[in-house]
Amino acid sequence: MSALAERDTRTLPAKGAMTGARFKKSLQDGREVWIDGERVSDVTTHPAFKDMIDALASVYDKQTTTYRDEMTFVDSESGVRTSLSWLLPRNADELRMKRRNSELWSELTWGQLGRSPDILAPYIISTLHLKDNFSAIKHPRCDFGENLANYYKHCMRNDLFLTHALGDPQVDRSEQTQNEQRPVPEDEMIALHVVEETKDGVIVTGGKQLSTAAPHSNECYVALSATFAHRNDPRCVIAFSIPTNTPGLKVLAREPVSRWFGSWGHPLQMWDEQDAMLFFENVLVPWDRVFMLYDPSPMIKMLGAGGGSVNFNFLGWANLCRAYFRMRLMTCVATMVAEAIGVNQYREVGAKLGEMVTYCEVWRHSMEGMEHLAGPTPSGQWTLGPGRGLHIWFAQTSSRMTELLREICGSGIIMQPSERDLSNPQVRKYLDRYMRGKDVDVEYKSRLFRLAHDLAASSFGMRQDIYEYWHGGDPNRNRINLQRSYNQNAMREQIKEMLSKPLAHGAVR
Ligand SMILES: Cc1cc2nc3c(=O)[nH]c(=O)nc-3n(C[C@H](O)[C@H](O)[C@H](O)COP(=O)(O)OP(=O)(O)OC[C@H]3O[C@@H](n4cnc5c(N)ncnc54)[C@H](O)[C@@H]3O)c2cc1C
Repeated sequence: MSALAERDTRTLPAKGAMTGARFKKSLQDGREVWIDGERVSDVTTHPAFKDMIDALASVYDKQTTTYRDEMTFVDSESGVRTSLSWLLPRNADELRMKRRNSELWSELTWGQLGRSPDILAPYIISTLHLKDNFSAIKHPRCDFGENLANYYKHCMRNDLFLTHALGDPQVDRSEQTQNEQRPVPEDEMIALHVVEETKDGVIVTGGKQLSTAAPHSNECYVALSATFAHRNDPRCVIAFSIPTNTPGLKVLAREPVSRWFGSWGHPLQMWDEQDAMLFFENVLVPWDRVFMLYDPSPMIKMLGAGGGSVNFNFLGWANLCRAYFRMRLMTCVATMVAEAIGVNQYREVGAKLGEMVTYCEVWRHSMEGMEHLAGPTPSGQWTLGPGRGLHIWFAQTSSRMTELLREICGSGIIMQPSERDLSNPQVRKYLDRYMRGKDVDVEYKSRLFRLAHDLAASSFGMRQDIYEYWHGGDPNRNRINLQRSYNQNAMREQIKEMLSKPLAHGAVR
């Protein structure tokens, strides 16, 4: 079968919910992944990716066995049983089913996967809510809205794992492409752009960042973020999705995090989901995979930057459930650490733990509120209530929780014996005496503190903190966009009325 025929979303038999074995096999497809100056021949066996892929495969296996009823559904049109991540919710019950699915994804991955499979699915689903807007941009070769609908079915029925990349490379932000007034010559272009149209599709060249999970994704969804959607050069206005093994697409992975110190030194290390740059060199995007071209208005509406879809919560449950799990995990580890070194009764420590619990509770209340405010959109799709403020708030809350966990741990967050120290009798006698905790032995204490270390101090923990700050885009930009669309009219009128009244006591005239 030719590469193009393989991509034809309508001709292939649907495979249904992903299994671990199928997931691994799907990644052995000749994709061009690079790390540390070398091309990776097989990501499923390479030490930088293997643990993560194995861990993800084990969750995929659970979704088709132990949690089949809670993580999958039967697509009524095709009869295929597939992941609930891909269910297009049409009522409150279906939204609740999706919540449970995302809760399980978070629990099974310890709340550490920002780009778990259930995060990109709602993203694609949400584009369908604006399908007509995408279709309204006419092109003689295809109907963009129909392409999205067909693509959704393809992903849903095969339970594909997507990565996404929305930004331009961080080369020179002072002269971003969207601000360029002069036409930029082809050899100076950095942003991903259209080189030419052919009868088969669009040829694109350029870079995209960042693409978390790209090395182990099935598909790369490429579009524009709120920062990059407004551009002067229409060549850079494009949205599409292609298989990760598409010829000409190069994936550059970063240095793996937390890779040493025995089997418990980095207890979360297998959830290093990797981040990557994407380089496109004359990549053919078939017409049926192009979702937007030259005109960004549907994407701007979707992102809500102009106020269009402000109340459409296109992120769904995944991010909310993951953040909630992560917050509770950090809070509980902090509590157990405080107990393990006998500081939990101190007022200052109790207040810090209480601050962490407060964040967990505010998050829970907000999730309940968003569920309560859920409702149908004109397209018939159900959406959670608005949550833009909450997502921005987490960028700062996550860092604060990391800081609190570090403060409660004291130096123990870095000074712990290794697994091999513990198994050496010459060293162990000192560890038993000097490195145990309050009513806990040295092994328990060390393993607990190593977990705290991976959450708040190791290279894994630092990457997670950086992720939480940036993954939704620049928090300052998001705050500004939120502020601009924030309706203060009633309050403004009340203040104006008060200001217009004559002053009491006739003090000033
Ligand atoms: C771990 C991680 C994972 C990510 N995963 C993904 C992903 O899967 N998919 C995806 O699409 N993106 C992803 N991102 C990218 C993320 O969306 C961007 O990091 C974010 O939008 C900020 O862009 P930048 O990193 O290029 O920083 P820059 O935009 O270069 O910002 C650098 C600094 O300059 C400031 N700055 C930049 N421009 C301006 C301006 N015009 N005015 C004032 N100040 C400015 C910023 O505030 C910041 O302080 C990820 C990022 C991280 C860190």
